[in-house]
Amino acid sequence: MARLYYDADADLQRLTGKTVAVVGYGSQGHAHALNLRDSGIRVVVANRPGGRNWRRALDDGFEPVAPAEAAAQADVVMLLVPDHVMPAVFEEMRPALAEGKALAFAHGFNVHFGQIRPPEGVDVFMVAPKGPGHLVRRMYREGKGVPALFAVHRDASGYARELALAYAKGIGATRAGVLETTFAEETETDLFGEQAVLCGGMTELVRAGFETLVAAGYQPEVAYFECLHEMKLIVDLMWEGGITWMRHSISDTAEYGDLTVGPRVIDQHVRDNMRRVLEDVRSGRFAREWILENRAGRPIMNALRLSQARHPIEEVGRRLRAMMPWIETPQEAREVESE
Ligand code: NAD
Ligand code: MG
Ligand code: MG
Ligand code: MG
Ligand code: MG
Ligand code: MG
Repeated sequence: MARLYYDADADLQRLTGKTVAVVGYGSQGHAHALNLRDSGIRVVVANRPGGRNWRRALDDGFEPVAPAEAAAQADVVMLLVPDHVMPAVFEEMRPALAEGKALAFAHGFNVHFGQIRPPEGVDVFMVAPKGPGHLVRRMYREGKGVPALFAVHRDASGYARELALAYAKGIGATRAGVLETTFAEETETDLFGEQAVLCGGMTELVRAGFETLVAAGYQPEVAYFECLHEMKLIVDLMWEGGITWMRHSISDTAEYGDLTVGPRVIDQHVRDNMRRVLEDVRSGRFAREWILENRAGRPIMNALRLSQARHPIEEVGRRLRAMMPWIETPQEAREVESE
């Protein structure tokens, strides 16, 4: 069994008296900055000036500065800008990353695939929460935490590991448990998970089910409830008590169908595809494609985003959710819909 680290295993003293720069005030950034500050640690925030998140940082009582300035002020620099802009932001900060400082990440992509090469003499570690930023903040406020992975890429000071654990404690992750990993393991499993299971696998499964029912003449509204709306209820049960608890909660008819038909849908062919997806992640083929896609101005991503946003399941869903006002669609989601 892997060892998990909790509050008692981490010493916040490693960070007290130091300044942490949180570079990027987005999903993860706002949560890290606010949680660390509430844990008694001095925090300086950096973001692009002028935008929505810059104003949000001001509203939250920070005085955001440019990344290079934040890096100059800080002992520990946590990079929380989008992964594809991170190498450029890192270059702006490089001159300020003097020996004895620490550079931190919430995802290993840029270090693992060689897009960022931190200067010698700088500690390099990762604390990667296993949940979206708004949850990292909400759980902390409720006295809880989101679990995280941590890893040390370079231990120049001799206490990079303790620093990483202190950081994890500062954002509340050790309340839930943190697990030691490597940059390679975190990067490869994170990319595989979001592609094959959590995001890519799940959205395609939902759409394929919806399209199959609609093509057979069933009402799109019924197909939406069956394939998308109920997904959350099932996932919540698995999250609470595992697959066995979910199966206990559904009818015996549903459970028999689950057990016998599930493997017909997710068959050997799907498993072979998953293995190939993992190979593309490990070989760097996916990383190269994504890096070049960004350099080209994201032509494929923009085209796919647009066509998928117009899928009938989205239109049906909007109408049905409007009739269920207790489903609180965040304001930001409405803005994304209208883009
Ligand atoms: P995000 O897109 O939500 O926020 C990025 C922030 O960086 C924004 O405030 C943006 O204004 C700012 N920014 C963009 N370009 C900038 C620049 N040139 N200079 C300064 N600021 C700039 O990003 P995120 O989803 O929080 O991701 C940050 C990191 O956390 C990534 O490494 C990601 O892989 C990792 N991560 C994210 C999640 C998640 O749930 N979102 C979970 C785990 C790890
Ligand atoms: Mg996004
Ligand atoms: Mg992930
Ligand atoms: Mg990810
Ligand atoms: Mg049913
Ligand atoms: Mg049952």
